[in-house]
Amino acid sequence: MASLSLKNVCKVYPNGFEAVKDFNLDVADKEFIIFVGPSGCGKSTTLRMIAGLEEISSGDLIIDGKVMNDVEPKDRDIAMVFQNYALYPHMTVFDNMAFGLKLRKVPKDEIKAKVEEAARILDLEKLLDRKPKALSGGQRQRVAMGRAIVRNPKVFLMDEPLSNLDAKLRVQMRSEIASLHNRLGATIIYVTHDQTEAMTLGTRIVVLKDGVIMQVDSPQKLYNEPNNLFVAGFIGSPQMNFIDAKCTIQGDKATLTFGDYSVVLPDYKAKKLEEGGYNGKTVVLGIRPEDISDDPEMIQKNGDCVIESDVTGYELLGAEVLLYYSVAGANMTARVDSDTPARYGDHIKLAFDPHKIHVFDKETELTIT
Ligand code: ATP
Repeated sequence: MASLSLKNVCKVYPNGFEAVKDFNLDVADKEFIIFVGPSGCGKSTTLRMIAGLEEISSGDLIIDGKVMNDVEPKDRDIAMVFQNYALYPHMTVFDNMAFGLKLRKVPKDEIKAKVEEAARILDLEKLLDRKPKALSGGQRQRVAMGRAIVRNPKVFLMDEPLSNLDAKLRVQMRSEIASLHNRLGATIIYVTHDQTEAMTLGTRIVVLKDGVIMQVDSPQKLYNEPNNLFVAGFIGSPQMNFIDAKCTIQGDKATLTFGDYSVVLPDYKAKKLEEGGYNGKTVVLGIRPEDISDDPEMIQKNGDCVIESDVTGYELLGAEVLLYYSVAGANMTARVDSDTPARYGDHIKLAFDPHKIHVFDKETELTIT
């Protein structure tokens, strides 16, 4: 397998549109890298530049120390799995998987051994004689995967490979891809819209916005320590609540005020605000829905972090419930246990732990603490 680097990579389409801007990323051998970001942020363009399907306008793509910009796609030793699988309908599963190897003039018995091995890994052994139309979506997806595996490429690129599958199959295939990554020790770069896929599969996640990298970090770090408001809002579902608040610093105490409420921040957070000169300024307070609780014990424990509001929406998710309400003009969501007595229209109390508060600069949108 392989390491891969993108150095100052830019993509300007012929119409002048700058889809990827100064993209820098070092992918280590065996890493599982996820690209996420809103529609149109440049995920597929970046993936296609790595595959050689799209020209790199400036910057370098380096694989195992070699600049690959001008190397033909077929000579890059990269396999790409697309969301539409792109299987040949007139060929059997075996032939679909063998096709790339045949083109490369790999000896017949070697092809047979490789296809059978991939079929074993993907549990496709009984389906090798079938044509794609006689397969389920998940089986087709596995064939597409198998076609990539038999090539034993340096890098796997996957562009939303599970997006056409139903919810149950997605979960199943997600764990198959995770175990495939472990078994093959493969370097994978994977584009997805799905938060759960990103968080569960990725060793690191690249968050993109308008062709610019916002943050590259482990799923846990992105969730706990987002660099800025965008990442904080993009990672996590439902998204983090944001509310404008006025910062007052007195001595070593920092208070955030919004509407009728005032929250005293823990000392280490107060220090950051003081150092940044935020006294008297408006900042953005962020709190995740799952960090808000209607548990009476929490409410008692966090006296000054308790708000009261009317429930304007109630959504049962199964084990949990989403409660919608508003505070100081901001729409908020709380994710609480489904045994909550709260219902639509109720006036309720909700508490949060001040340690869980994120604070952002309102102008730069960068994280303060
Ligand atoms: P999605 O999640 O919707 O698939 P994406 O993040 O993969 O989006 P890209 O397909 O990489 O986005 O597109 C990035 C931007 O480049 C988009 O604004 C798109 O409209 C633009 N774009 C893509 N292909 C071309 C092209 N051939 N010419 C001009 N602009 C293009």
